[in-house]
Amino acid sequence: MTPPPQSDALRQAAQVGRDGIAFFRRANRLASDPRVKFIFGRAAEEYEGVLKVLGPLAKGKAKGKAPTLFPFEDYEKLECYVCGYETETDEIPEVCPSCGAARYAFEKEVSQDRAWDLVARTTKDVLAFTKKAGAGVKDAKAKEALAKVAGIHKGLLGEAQEERARLEGGTS
Ligand SMILES: [Zn+2]
Repeated sequence: MTPPPQSDALRQAAQVGRDGIAFFRRANRLASDPRVKFIFGRAAEEYEGVLKVLGPLAKGKAKGKAPTLFPFEDYEKLECYVCGYETETDEIPEVCPSCGAARYAFEKEVSQDRAWDLVARTTKDVLAFTKKAGAGVKDAKAKEALAKVAGIHKGLLGEAQEERARLEGGTS
């Protein structure tokens, strides 16, 4: 059975959703500030929602390569700020194997406004990609799913922009 060509658009959109989950879960794990952890956790949750919509319609791997819309490279390496030791493990070491510093030496210092910026920027790109990928889709179910997904992205983008403005209005 040959799947209709437009299903690849859904698979690519699903891949972007999976990337979003992976990226924001990792950012959530590495952030030191619990408020920033919350922000990345919120984003991961929304991308989980995206995958819930697309997953059942987009089985299998995409033929075309989905673009990388998240700055994975910024979160790939963990660096001990005490001694500069670098590692690429998934979990933060409890102590630095090089200098013995506690786990917080590996946590990422990200401010809340930078975190919302990151959510807004990536979600804007994802929204543009979803729109482009969905342009040629004719299947009603697929179209409906992509519209639903765009709605989730728009919601997250709006939330990020609002929170960003709220922080700017504050005294910090
Ligand atoms: Zn160290």
